[in-house]
Amino acid sequence: MEKARIMDEKAIGRAITRISHEIIERNKGIEDLVIVGIKTKGIPLANRIASKIESIENSRVMCDSIDITSYRDDITHDVIKGLVDEKFDLDVHNKTVVLVDDVLYTGRTIRAALDYIIDNGRPKLVQLAVLVDRGHRELPIRADYVGKNVPTSKNEKVLVKFIEIDDEDSVTICE
Ligand code: 5GP
Ligand code: MG
Repeated sequence: MEKARIMDEKAIGRAITRISHEIIERNKGIEDLVIVGIKTKGIPLANRIASKIESIENSRVMCDSIDITSYRDDITHDVIKGLVDEKFDLDVHNKTVVLVDDVLYTGRTIRAALDYIIDNGRPKLVQLAVLVDRGHRELPIRADYVGKNVPTSKNEKVLVKFIEIDDEDSVTICE
C-alpha cells in the first residue's frame, strides 16, 4: 500500500543538482573522478549525476556501473556466483570513486561494492552517494551525499521510480 509520496520529479532533480555540486566542492574539482552506479537503480542515478557534473564543469566525467549480486555476503549460492561476470573494466587505481545507489539500508550492498572495487584496483578515495537513506544500518557504513534522509520502519519499503526505467520520477513510502 502506498503511504506517502516524499519526492516528486522536481525534488529528485534538485537533490541530484545539490549532490553534484557537493561532489565537485568536496573533491575540489573533478580530476580523477569516477562515478559508479550500482545495479539496478543506482545506474540511472549515476548517469544523471555524471551529466549534471559535466554540465556544471564543462568537462567529461567517467561513469560506469557494477553488479555486485555475487559479492553479497547473504547470497552464497555457487550457481549465482558462477553466473555473474566479475570482471570490472573501469580502472579505479588512484581514482576518486563515487559509488551511487538509490537506497541505503543495512549497508551490505555497499560493503559488497567496496569489496568488488578493491578487488579490481586501489582507489585513492571512495565516497558514497544515495538518493534515500532509510536507516537500519547493520555495518559501519554511511553516505557522503544524501538526497533525503527518510526514517522508516523495517516493514516499510521505499519505492523509487526513475523515468529511464519506470513511468515517472518519484519516491514513495510503501507498507
Ligand atoms: P542494503 O544492502 O543497504 O541493505 O540495501 C540497499 C540495496 O537494496 C540497494 O541496492 C537498494 O536498491 C535496495 N533496497 C534496500 N531497501 C530498499 C527500499 O526500501 N527500497 C528500494 N527501492 N530499494 C531498497
Ligand atoms: Mg539496488
